[in-house]
Amino acid sequence: MERRGLLYIVSAPSGTGKTTLCKQIVHIVPNLWHSVSCTTRQPRPGEEHGREYFFIDDRTFQEMIERQEFVEWARVYGHWYGTPRKAIADKLDQGVDVLLEIDTQGAAQIKKKFQDGIYIYILPPSLKALRTRLQMRAGDSAEEIARRLKKAREEVWSYREYYYIVRNDDLKQSLKELESIFIAERIKTKRLDIGWLEANFILD
Ligand code: ADP
Ligand code: 5GP
Repeated sequence: MERRGLLYIVSAPSGTGKTTLCKQIVHIVPNLWHSVSCTTRQPRPGEEHGREYFFIDDRTFQEMIERQEFVEWARVYGHWYGTPRKAIADKLDQGVDVLLEIDTQGAAQIKKKFQDGIYIYILPPSLKALRTRLQMRAGDSAEEIARRLKKAREEVWSYREYYYIVRNDDLKQSLKELESIFIAERIKTKRLDIGWLEANFILD
């Protein structure tokens, strides 16, 4: 019987670097698909419809809720965000692992439906570093940054609901740690691709 893919859920306070990490890890770990969410927020400079998000209006979002097209959805920082159900179900059925980059409310909803999910929380090295990262990233106003920092102070304690924690200080190191989680989970479930293993480790 074909094996279903594994579901990985990554959350972190805004500005920690989870998008940066998730965008890069799919180029390192084979057979891993990064799900594209829908949102009602405006695109930031450089973001593209269908790549970072499907940018849709409030009405379209509500219609999608009514048609049960989201596997989870939440209101985050004054906007709606949701994970399209069909795309992830198709990938999992095809045996492809799926990476969801969602907030803690969404992760809690997913946890009720996917007990076998692998829940990863990314922490910033400090709140000071988080502020700097939020400021460096173009696109959010000073009020928006203050709002995200305030939420981060409360939200960091959610790490207790997750199975792995990565402290995103040095980006390269964090990617290595993230990669180790994928290797560990694939070894555990006997899914490790030998070609990938041989390409990454010296075995002789
Ligand atoms: P998130 O998706 O968690 O909101 P982003 O991936 O958008 O965060 O990253 C926020 C900002 O921090 C970006 O400008 C990104 O380039 C930067 N960043 C990400 N990881 C690191 C790191 N390890 N060290 C320094 N800056 C980082
Ligand atoms: P941003 O606006 O910075 O891209 O994302 C804001 C927050 O929304 C982040 O915590 C991000 O993980 C979360 N988010 C992105 N997509 C989804 C989604 O589909 N569902 C949920 N619940 N949260 C999401």
